[in-house]
Amino acid sequence: MTKRVYVKDIPIGGGSRVSVQSMCNTLTSDFDAIFKSILELAEAGCDIVRVSVPDLESVKSLKKLVLESPIPVVADVHYDYKLALESIEAGAHKLRINPGNLKKEHLRQVAMLAKDRGVPIRVGVNQGSQSVKLSPSELAKLCRDTALYMEDCGTDELVLAVKSSSVMDTISAYRELSKMTDYPLHVGLTEAGTLNMGVTKSNIAIGALLADGIGDTIRVSLTTSPIREVEEGKKILRALGLDKNFVEVVACPTCARTCIDVEKYAQEIENLTKNVKKPLKIAVMGCSVNGIGEAKGADFGVCGGKSQSIIFKDSEVLKSVDNYKVLDELIKLTESYND
Ligand code: SF4
Repeated sequence: MTKRVYVKDIPIGGGSRVSVQSMCNTLTSDFDAIFKSILELAEAGCDIVRVSVPDLESVKSLKKLVLESPIPVVADVHYDYKLALESIEAGAHKLRINPGNLKKEHLRQVAMLAKDRGVPIRVGVNQGSQSVKLSPSELAKLCRDTALYMEDCGTDELVLAVKSSSVMDTISAYRELSKMTDYPLHVGLTEAGTLNMGVTKSNIAIGALLADGIGDTIRVSLTTSPIREVEEGKKILRALGLDKNFVEVVACPTCARTCIDVEKYAQEIENLTKNVKKPLKIAVMGCSVNGIGEAKGADFGVCGGKSQSIIFKDSEVLKSVDNYKVLDELIKLTESYND
């Protein structure tokens, strides 16, 4: 069990729901553009958003963002401790710093002001930003030692992260770190890459850690729209059963025995229910070989047959329908649950 830290009204750690984060990729100084991006991310289900603060113009925009954003805003500051101080004064809901690029005496000033203003800090150590390549265990120790230093400076509202672009190093570093501390952990890879490999790498690293019970908030870092980061993050939580409020469509992979258009029906039902936030399981199975068991285990489902298919509901056979009516039947049942 980790300690609980609040980022405005969103809890991180202490057994609270694993939150999903993302980071804007427009100029923070362009208020209209970044505010639009934050609204879109909030709509997509992002819990906490991070913005870069590379200059004073960005601080000005941040000051307005923290008042108008529907979700908490984290200020991401590198190298310039004065911008970190300014961001705290601007009302940032959390600060992200990298101890690899701030001097210790400057870190102390930042920690003291954060404590005074009640602003939590994420200590994010990245393997790539160290002057020499650190092993996973060295990364974890550096992060833990920085947290101890921050405590010594007076603040213990901390969230820790030890990221690498390597899946195996990331998993090892977080496993080590979780043994050393009870601060909540922000889990993810850094520079994971494009949609192509980035999603796979993130699924493995974040999934393995969450399956071990490690991780209190996640970010899927991708070289694409931040909306996709949120979508992929939510999928990880759903696949692990950490978010049950969604419609799960179970479908068979199809084979020579398939009697109905499984792919089309499953896709249609998934599209129809993508914004439904309640637990529901729908099975679309191509034949009776494995189909009956799966369809019976779902809230409702279909099991394809040669000319007629069986519709199941709550583990019971509801009726048989002609194959050309299967999709209509599934849509009707889905809508009855949506209501
Ligand atoms: S459920 Fe039937 S159609 Fe689907 S993959 Fe299995 S055997 Fe093939």
